[in-house]
Amino acid sequence: MIIVTRSQVTGAEHRQVVELLQQLAGSQRPISATVMRERQVITIDGNSLDAQAHAALSQHSAVERIVSTHSPYQLVSRAFQSEDSRVVVGDLPGSQPVTIGGSAPVIIAGPCAVESREQLMEIARAVKDAGAQVLRGGAFKPRTSPYQFQGLGIEGLRFLAEAREETGLPVITEVMEPEMVDTVAQYADILQIGSRNMQNFPLLQAAGSHPARRPVMLKRGLASTIDEWLLAAEYIVAAGNPNVILCERGIRSFDTHTRNLLDLACVPLLHELTHLPVIVDPSHATGRRELVPTMSRAAIAAGAHGLILETHTDPNSALCDGRQSITPEQLQTIAQETRLVAQIMSDPAVLDYVA
Ligand code: PEP
Ligand code: MN
Repeated sequence: MIIVTRSQVTGAEHRQVVELLQQLAGSQRPISATVMRERQVITIDGNSLDAQAHAALSQHSAVERIVSTHSPYQLVSRAFQSEDSRVVVGDLPGSQPVTIGGSAPVIIAGPCAVESREQLMEIARAVKDAGAQVLRGGAFKPRTSPYQFQGLGIEGLRFLAEAREETGLPVITEVMEPEMVDTVAQYADILQIGSRNMQNFPLLQAAGSHPARRPVMLKRGLASTIDEWLLAAEYIVAAGNPNVILCERGIRSFDTHTRNLLDLACVPLLHELTHLPVIVDPSHATGRRELVPTMSRAAIAAGAHGLILETHTDPNSALCDGRQSITPEQLQTIAQETRLVAQIMSDPAVLDYVA
């Protein structure tokens, strides 16, 4: 249950509401409070207040509305906010800001890993020319084997900042541990929380409570349900950062032809359940570059707000994920095609045309 207070409540009024809620619900039940769009928002697990308690709370002069959700997540739910969230990315100096969550699909592209200054600068220029609006590149890489390339670390972050300065592209990079959130937030316009860390709760809380409120792209866990994923997003929002973007990157399955199973049905389903923007990663979802163009078009047709595409000027010699990396030329075609698909999807006249 969510209690939204009026926009200009005093600290004393806010405390009164929390105390009243504690009395009504029992002091053992954890209550969390955060600020969203200038309003204090108080959340409590479940909807278990009886009608009398509900009425007492709604009559308090500081309470604007009470939202009952039947889902385990609250602040990220459609019940709490009916309009789509739009997340503006690119608040570091030198970035050209981009909105994720509107009708125009956003293309994020770049190498899996930052390998060297030259490699990153070359790819950054190429993806920008091909139509990407955000540059990706991993500086800290979560690798399955300890013997694989682990990323350039802080040096990689510096190269990303340099690429942003030259191209104007906001940058996204992965943060793997809570202690590194502040450092990565100094360089990155978007913090990526990877699949393997989707339920790293201290990391989610650190990204949520960082004072810069840097947008966070939360990738779906390797074998996570949609509810687990949305509850992970809830951790970030409840900690104070509403700028969350969900990224479907495929889930574990039994077939070995593709690296993962791209769950495109989750896109329209998420639009029902949550107001957060959703983007799709066909690179990690399929693991095969030849499948990336088709699944990119399909993702946009399913309602995704954007794509994240691993792109390399020399995929066959990439230090990480070359098999699924496309070239800038392929990226250009995908960017054009997906813009067209998005236009068709948003143009009501298309339905007349088909009829
Ligand atoms: C990545 O984006 O390079 C990555 C490691 O992704 P995931 O967490 O989805 O495996
Ligand atoms: Mn990768």
